[in-house]
Amino acid sequence: MSASILVVEDEDPLQILLTYNLQAEGYRVRVTGQGEEAMPMVTEERPDLILLDWMLPGISGIEVCRLLRARPETRDVPIIMLTARSEEAERVRGLSTGADDYIVKPFSVPELLARVRTILRRINPDAVADTLRAGDLTLDRRTRRVMRGPRDVALSPTEFKLLEHLMQNPGRVYSRAQLLDTVWGRDIYVDERTVDVHVGRLRKSLSRGRETDPIRTVRGIGYAFDERFGRPV
Ligand code: CA
Repeated sequence: MSASILVVEDEDPLQILLTYNLQAEGYRVRVTGQGEEAMPMVTEERPDLILLDWMLPGISGIEVCRLLRARPETRDVPIIMLTARSEEAERVRGLSTGADDYIVKPFSVPELLARVRTILRRINPDAVADTLRAGDLTLDRRTRRVMRGPRDVALSPTEFKLLEHLMQNPGRVYSRAQLLDTVWGRDIYVDERTVDVHVGRLRKSLSRGRETDPIRTVRGIGYAFDERFGRPV
């Protein structure tokens, strides 16, 4: 079961950016722009992690954090505070209120995702595996190593990211635009054909001779990691 994340953030563009990227990582995401709504949402279904904006209309993020920490049933839910305040004093205040981590806006999405992963790994090692496996294919996130059976598969950093992204949600179809956003990042302008080129190279490195191709092309849409890869036919 994938980890669930509650996003408490009142800025629409950030809500969209966070939801999109967290879902792409395979998390289940709920969102609210109101501090008041956070408590009932947490009680209704306890999230594995909360991304909590400091500045919210009405009840502030710091207050929400305090409330969560004050109740035994929500005391242990990990919280990452999102804030525009970068001063050391504020940082200390945020952490002393009980937040587990603190990230200053504007933040980089990969950095935020890495922090999320670190915290989830700490509380539930299975929720964020270091190793992704399918059939005879193994991807190790810590050592950045990919193996097919006994053979080392040499991949460029981009190809590694591409494979990691596809592999963590087997069967899920990603459009070229989605892959560009998450693998290359939104700030870089690259043509959608770049995705095809890299998928082509990735395939070449992954499959030799008669080895089956783990990547499925979905005509007119994009690519998926074949969920039947490695399973007996
Ligand atoms: Ca805000």
